[in-house]
Amino acid sequence: MKKVLMVLLLGAVCLALAGCGKARDLDFEAWYDIDADLCPEERTLSYREKAVVVNTGTDEAEELYFHIYANMFKHLYQVEDGDIAVTSVWDGGGRALDFERMQEGVLYRMALDEPLKPGEGMELTITCDGRIPDLERKYGVSPDGDVHLPLFAAQLAVFDEDGWDIDPLPEEGDGRYAEAADYALTIRVPEGYTVACNGTETGCETADGVTAYRFRADKRRELVVMACRDYARRERTVGGTKILGYFNTAVSGVTERSMDQVMDWAAFALGYYNSFLPDYPYDTLVVTNAALGSNVAVNMEYSGMLTVYITEQNGGYASRLGAYHEVAHQWFYGLVGNDENREPWLDEGFATFATGLCLEASGAEDVEGTYWDVYAVSDETLPGRKVNVGPDKAEVYEFVVYNRGCSFLKRLMDAVGREAFLSLLGTYCRDNMYGVARTEDFLSALYAGTDRDVSALVDEYIG
Ligand SMILES: [Zn+2]
Repeated sequence: MKKVLMVLLLGAVCLALAGCGKARDLDFEAWYDIDADLCPEERTLSYREKAVVVNTGTDEAEELYFHIYANMFKHLYQVEDGDIAVTSVWDGGGRALDFERMQEGVLYRMALDEPLKPGEGMELTITCDGRIPDLERKYGVSPDGDVHLPLFAAQLAVFDEDGWDIDPLPEEGDGRYAEAADYALTIRVPEGYTVACNGTETGCETADGVTAYRFRADKRRELVVMACRDYARRERTVGGTKILGYFNTAVSGVTERSMDQVMDWAAFALGYYNSFLPDYPYDTLVVTNAALGSNVAVNMEYSGMLTVYITEQNGGYASRLGAYHEVAHQWFYGLVGNDENREPWLDEGFATFATGLCLEASGAEDVEGTYWDVYAVSDETLPGRKVNVGPDKAEVYEFVVYNRGCSFLKRLMDAVGREAFLSLLGTYCRDNMYGVARTEDFLSALYAGTDRDVSALVDEYIG
């Protein structure tokens, strides 16, 4: 993501969780079917979620953990109001399950009456009631009336080699760590609202003053909904993907011209990244305006959606970079996942680097003297700092994770050659598509993709 200060148009943030360690072999597949009611006027969101969880490991699971990442925004941005609370959990046999609210509602532990055996699946029905706060950065109802509801669903926590991902809440960054999963959503809103989702719309009916939208969001790492009464719509097609623009025209800076520009930039970036990374697999990519809360707008990426702070200042340069950066995240975090609390450089460093390439390819400016240099400054400011650290370990998160991460990749590209480097980036993405990558996975692709000795560079940046 990129946060954009109202005036300075600088910015960035994204972060880390992790686990309770036990060497058990648990692995899961999950999919979700959510039936929701959203009332922006009442500031309420309630939903009933059916989560199907299959144990694909070899050990039994006595408990399951779910994240509701939307509740993390209160923690990160010190927002008082607004929370999505689990009100009941039932198993497939209609038995109420005990659940424990943890980590300010970001994590829920569900106790199973009977262990979930290897190879078996179960259905949980989870009901939630939510209060939607005034928007702060990424979540809530903005003063301009657009509703931003990222990450509201309960999603199974990751179980990895360190056990369940139940690490403490991060103090900075995005903090997500999720497997790709299939989501189906029905959401009802008052008539007159348009709903945008990071999936594909499959139906929309209005009756008795209520509009019901249906979406499918397959192989996504989260579910996101935006809603507004005044969306202007735009559309572009790139390869097999329709880019759908939903822009709140009440937001300062959203004009006919700026909307078209952002769509053009998103389309260019998607086509450019398609040229050396695996083709973008989704049939839709949604672009919306970042909302303006208390003078801070935050560009953000989700699987199948991005928000961009739209401004025509400086010829829209910040919006251009925002579009390029967030589209790059469609691969780096969206398609190739990572633990944003442990190794955020794998999405932020890579997205920042890819943005420089995209800017170069666009011919917008001579990046040799500008974009790359900005990031190279971090090398001089923080020499020797390792980039593969969590935000809690990085004293200067943005400088280390974004800037030095970008600088590392640029120096690697200069060392191994552009063609070879773009090729090995494509290999890295293909090998980890829909999975979760670690720094070692990137290094494996790097070493397999070049004969050059880059060990000194790797030692300088990777701890
Ligand atoms: Zn980012």
